[in-house]
Amino acid sequence: MREFSLLIKPASFDCNLRCAYCFYLKKEEVFGNSIHRMSDEVLEKMVSSFLDIEMSNHSFAWQGGEPSVMGVDFYQRAITMMKKHGDEKNVANALQTNGTLLNDDWGKLLRDFNFLVGLSMDGPAELHDLYRKDAGGKGTHKKVYNTIKLLRRHRVEFNILTLVSQANIKHPLEVYRYLKKLGIKYHQYIECFETAPGGGLAPFAVSGVEWGKFMCRIFDEWYKGDRYDISVRLFDSILHQLVEKRSNVCNMGRDCRQYLVVEYNGDVFPCDFFVEPRFKLGNVMENSFQEMIDSDLYKEFGKRKTATDEVCGDCQWIDLCAGCCPKNRPDRAQDAKTLSELCAGWKMFYSHTYDRFKELAKEIRFRRETEQRVQVHRQLLRMFQQGNIGLEAPCPCGSGLLLKQCMAPELNQLLGGR
Ligand code: SF4
Ligand code: SF4
Ligand code: SF4
Repeated sequence: MREFSLLIKPASFDCNLRCAYCFYLKKEEVFGNSIHRMSDEVLEKMVSSFLDIEMSNHSFAWQGGEPSVMGVDFYQRAITMMKKHGDEKNVANALQTNGTLLNDDWGKLLRDFNFLVGLSMDGPAELHDLYRKDAGGKGTHKKVYNTIKLLRRHRVEFNILTLVSQANIKHPLEVYRYLKKLGIKYHQYIECFETAPGGGLAPFAVSGVEWGKFMCRIFDEWYKGDRYDISVRLFDSILHQLVEKRSNVCNMGRDCRQYLVVEYNGDVFPCDFFVEPRFKLGNVMENSFQEMIDSDLYKEFGKRKTATDEVCGDCQWIDLCAGCCPKNRPDRAQDAKTLSELCAGWKMFYSHTYDRFKELAKEIRFRRETEQRVQVHRQLLRMFQQGNIGLEAPCPCGSGLLLKQCMAPELNQLLGGR
């Protein structure tokens, strides 16, 4: 079966912050304005049904709103349920958080159960605090900064997620260098794109060209000095695509069916950006994941990704961009067949970087092949020493040479000129 992961919103859109660009706070229209908390009944049903499915990995990504408003105890119960229903399975947990509510109890939980944490930080305080404010209108940078120290103290693995909005779009290098100075090794930049109710860009959103310019500057800086030390999610995904010939992120793939969103009450949707009643696939208390995955609604949703195939025509970047995410297409509410608003940015970015990505992909392949060859030679050397293999045989490492030719340096060393 097609593997998928869960993106869970145990507190729905509830959050202690009021970021100016937050699209999920608007889900009050869907889920009402009461307090939203996932019950243990829904939690256990979701965990057991998901772990029931035969897959190589079961990945739970906890998100919001702000998932830490649930408290540490909720996640301890979730872990207990995961052990009860799937102790022998490969289970991974991730937490995407604004980082303002975490304390030592959290640090311990996240470390003990190997959570991968995504922490939101939009750059230095003067940029981050422009939009990322608490309910009292106060900037939150200081708290996030302290959370970085907390996560390090507890040896929790984390990456930084930076939303690229009007707050920081003109400062790519300031943002990148700031994170680098903090010692952040894993960066993720996400475009903030949204249209205003009356049309045009929302005041905090970025245009395609702005996005393209921002990422080109980040790429140049990264390529110049950090390409072996710092991981930037988009760049990693492009390299993965070039080396493996398949995508590892939904927006570069040809089908949107990669994960399911589970809301606090068990309602299930196909994507974080399409949590809308018309896309509701079912509810974990009434439907199995298998049923929801097999539904026509989900299949149709998956196809929205390729609805641009005609629009994008013979674009040279289609294998990487794949028409961009349907949320960025002007008719997203209908059939998502229009050209992405970020198209100009992607074209600019790929034209500027592609040759260098190709070189890097070649390097990765070469390194990988060399490592494989070394492994094979080590094994053969052992066999030769034990008298189990002759030197006239073709070398199985793929070089096309005879063993004695291919392994000449190793053999010379071993035989010491005999
Ligand atoms: S922290 Fe996240 S969920 Fe909360 S208001 Fe900000 S963007 Fe929205
Ligand atoms: S709509 Fe965008 S974010 Fe959602 S699954 Fe498709 S590519 Fe991914
Ligand atoms: S760059 Fe533009 S035209 Fe090309 S695939 Fe992406 S959205 Fe389509």
